[in-house]
Amino acid sequence: MFKSEYLNRVYAEVERRDAGEPEFLQAVREVFESLELVVDKHPEWEQAGLLERFVEPERVLEFRVPWVDDEGRTRVNRGFRVQYNSAIGPYKGGLRFHPSVNLSIMKFLGFEQVLKNSLTTLPMGGGKGGSDFDPKGKSDAEVMRFCQSFMTELYRHIGQFTDVPAGDIGVGAREVGFLFGQYKRIVDRFDGGVITGKGLSFGGSLARTQATGYGLCYFSAEALKYLRNDSYAGKTVIVSGSGNVAQYCAEKVTQLGGRVVAMSDSKGYVYDPNGIDLPKLFDIKQKRRARISVYADEVPGSRYVEGCKNIWNVKCDIAHPCASQNEMDAEGAKALIDNGCIAVFEGANMPLTPEAIALVQGAGLLYSPGKASNAGGVATSGLEMSQNSMRLSWSFDEVDEKLHGIMQSIYKACYDASVECGKPGDLMVGANVAGFLKVAEAMMAQGENLRSDFVTFP
Ligand code: NDP
Repeated sequence: MFKSEYLNRVYAEVERRDAGEPEFLQAVREVFESLELVVDKHPEWEQAGLLERFVEPERVLEFRVPWVDDEGRTRVNRGFRVQYNSAIGPYKGGLRFHPSVNLSIMKFLGFEQVLKNSLTTLPMGGGKGGSDFDPKGKSDAEVMRFCQSFMTELYRHIGQFTDVPAGDIGVGAREVGFLFGQYKRIVDRFDGGVITGKGLSFGGSLARTQATGYGLCYFSAEALKYLRNDSYAGKTVIVSGSGNVAQYCAEKVTQLGGRVVAMSDSKGYVYDPNGIDLPKLFDIKQKRRARISVYADEVPGSRYVEGCKNIWNVKCDIAHPCASQNEMDAEGAKALIDNGCIAVFEGANMPLTPEAIALVQGAGLLYSPGKASNAGGVATSGLEMSQNSMRLSWSFDEVDEKLHGIMQSIYKACYDASVECGKPGDLMVGANVAGFLKVAEAMMAQGENLRSDFVTFP
């Protein structure tokens, strides 16, 4: 499958050991396809078993999370934390609460996070965690009891120098608050740097809420400018999803002169040719926690269509998939291409299937993988950790400016690596290679590979 024998051997072993983990295999395969361009220049990697170590998480935790619902019944969910790689800093990555969560999804997200965090230029290793608990339809008290139980196990495995979780799908400010409260209660210490995405009144950073969506647009604006001499101005844009990433992506697109005409949730999408009314969207999603269909009920001139995957049939110039993994397949990609779309920049993690990526790149559209274009969230989490350590808070504009600078450097790192690999403008290759090289260098330097027969004892 790969031209490199070394990559083939390692991938075959991953396939054998992790056969039941399709998302994880998909993520590894994509990265290996890019590494093919550099692996031959580094024979020392094979000698050191570097890729074998890179694909294997340092530690995987799986635990029982019992909690009591409002009827007094005990329920049980499964909790995870995948501590993937700590070569360049403490494990860092979000927690996802969604019924689809399983080990494959946790491992693919942790694996991607290692490369993403490396790209941010900040000292953060990679990890991911979560549970198959569904916060939807639960009362605040139920969510609180679940979070308390989850943290009652997780607390012993995390810390500002060990592992620093944050939010992801299903884990927003409410959940992070409950998780932090329980951590503090157990350890009897105000250890703010143990989790990011905190509320502003207890150590959170301004602009963290906006960071992933804003950062996505800052990255995309660089790609449009340098690869097409273009910008968001006057562009018609689709943003799938309507959660944290999608909402602030839509806001920044609008500020930069684009018009967001369609957004979705897991049930369907809304089309508004006049451009999504952002205050209305924020009210529906943040205050009322209602379905996206409510938007069409309340905004004249808009309409609701069942089935979230149909969103790609809407004509647009730029597509930002910001919902979940594999949300755009070959059919969706074809629809975008046929409608004259010029760019697909990922906000979610791995939202395009491999077939969709091949079609989009084959048709000459600009394309960026989530690990590069959505890295603004974790980068700003890194800035939250810095502020916690320094015991001060930067203004919104200071954080936003730093975020903007980080996204510009991530774009440049990806572009430069794409040139070095002989594929100028292939931001997927650029992201995978640039992210990996830094981690590889740190892993080699730390010498974990040494076997006892290589060590000379005095
Ligand atoms: P939210 O929980 O805030 O929102 C998720 C959105 O995606 C909702 O609209 C949800 O619809 C929809 N969705 C979830 N699962 C599916 C599915 N299987 N099919 C279709 N739609 C779905 O999550 P975030 O906005 O935080 O995260 C979105 C993506 O961005 C994820 O891939 C996440 O890993 C990634 N990401 C998030 C970061 C962050 O800072 N939050 C940082 C970097 C990446 P519904 O309400 O109907 O479930």
